[in-house]
Amino acid sequence: MRINVPETRKGILYLVATPIGNLADISFRAVETLNGVDFIACEDTRHSRPLLERYGIVKPLTALHEHNEDAAADRLLERLGRGESMALISDAGTPLINDPGFPLVRLAAERGFPIVPIPGPCALTAALSASALPTDRFAFEGFPPRTASARRALLEELLDDPRTLIFYESSHRILDFVRDIAQVFPAERRIVIARELTKLHETIARAWVGEACALIENDPNMQRGEFVVLLQGASPKPGKDDLTHEQMRVLKLLLDECSVKTASSLTAKITGARKELAYQAALRLTEKKL
Ligand code: SAM
Repeated sequence: MRINVPETRKGILYLVATPIGNLADISFRAVETLNGVDFIACEDTRHSRPLLERYGIVKPLTALHEHNEDAAADRLLERLGRGESMALISDAGTPLINDPGFPLVRLAAERGFPIVPIPGPCALTAALSASALPTDRFAFEGFPPRTASARRALLEELLDDPRTLIFYESSHRILDFVRDIAQVFPAERRIVIARELTKLHETIARAWVGEACALIENDPNMQRGEFVVLLQGASPKPGKDDLTHEQMRVLKLLLDECSVKTASSLTAKITGARKELAYQAALRLTEKKL
């Protein structure tokens, strides 16, 4: 296979994704681009230097962070106007995804500068791809609000959203956030807690919402590191061929104690569900557990 990396051109803003934990996760094209530009804007020069050194990239660095990005954007684009090219990187992952860069990209677009993404690592897509939750439709919510009342209000707003919901969270608030989820979301919704992706202690915990608090409370390691939290979207309202929430709840309880045949037969007797539907649902539930 021929790898074609075009020469870095002038007056261009490159958005370069960098690793989210494992320094080896950087593309050939990202390294070539960082080597080819005139200068690199990064959130924290001390943070980015080890990565650049590892790949032998020696370039002038300039800081672009949430406190200076409005003022810095104009100054950086003046340099592009003079024919220089620049790369924007963040501390980790894809720039602008819960990271600085939006004012710069908006202004660059307004002024007609070419903006070239160099795609790569991103915690949300890494977590989603491995979550075993539906990936066809999803909503990225970034960091949940800091106060419990605002967090719960947001969760209530999202309760009926059919898309897979994705959040970022820090170690300080992961337990509070999962407790809020357990208060607002039904116990039988799936939750995935992806921790320390691409790093030594990578953990992808898949559970029911009803089990999630215990999962974190009982394991101090589950309160350390960086997190992506994913929630299964709401099921469509039950049609005539689906079990109701209550029928599913009974079926799940019985499945913990009896065989598929007995659990579905008892569910039909207790709740009035159609036996065949209860049996099919029991088969699906036990398949998921395997
Ligand atoms: N730009 C980054 C990206 O592309 O994913 C996200 C930056 S945001 C400031 C940092 C948050 O992303 C962390 O608090 C965590 O929620 C999530 N994150 C970043 N790296 C992660 C990792 N290795 N494992 C799990 N979550 C991660």
